[in-house]
Amino acid sequence: MDTEAQIATVKQLIDAIGFEDCGTCPASDLAVRADVRDMCASGKCRMYGHSWACPPAIGGIEKYQKLIDQRRTCFVVQTVRKLEDEFDGETMMSAEREQKARILKLYRRLVAAGIDTLVLAAGTCTLCETCSYPDAPCRHPESRLVSMEAAGLLVYQVCEAAGIPYNHGPLTIAYTSAVLL
Ligand code: SF4
Repeated sequence: MDTEAQIATVKQLIDAIGFEDCGTCPASDLAVRADVRDMCASGKCRMYGHSWACPPAIGGIEKYQKLIDQRRTCFVVQTVRKLEDEFDGETMMSAEREQKARILKLYRRLVAAGIDTLVLAAGTCTLCETCSYPDAPCRHPESRLVSMEAAGLLVYQVCEAAGIPYNHGPLTIAYTSAVLL
């Protein structure tokens, strides 16, 4: 399959899965940032050093810049939901679950189609109730996805580059992932 056919297939799969928003930009627009990785290390989300899909287990951000530099196009996909009010945690959590399920489905369909991509998810890997890190190997390495933030990408900047909103307005929540071809 040539590159144009691969791009068309990725677009079809994104449409079929039903993401609420999708944008594209050249992969060369993406630059990893040390300050984003510093946010991981600050322990804000409490996953640093607690998952095979998070730093330090996944390696330095330089590795991710090299992986990005090998790509040509970046698709940015979102699950967007309306909130009943600003405390609507149930919708926020279900939107996050939906985005994780959708991006994993997309990743698996791309693998099945023989299309090599770099997929960066939203949030840490939650495939297992408790991550086996560091006492035992990852239980599902073939399905484990690293998040955009863990790779060192500032999600707001990537959305801006791809021409889609990071924030869809008051009383909405959006979860964002990236697929690089
Ligand atoms: S698949 Fe399981 S063991 Fe592997 S990173 Fe995800 S949660 Fe951890």
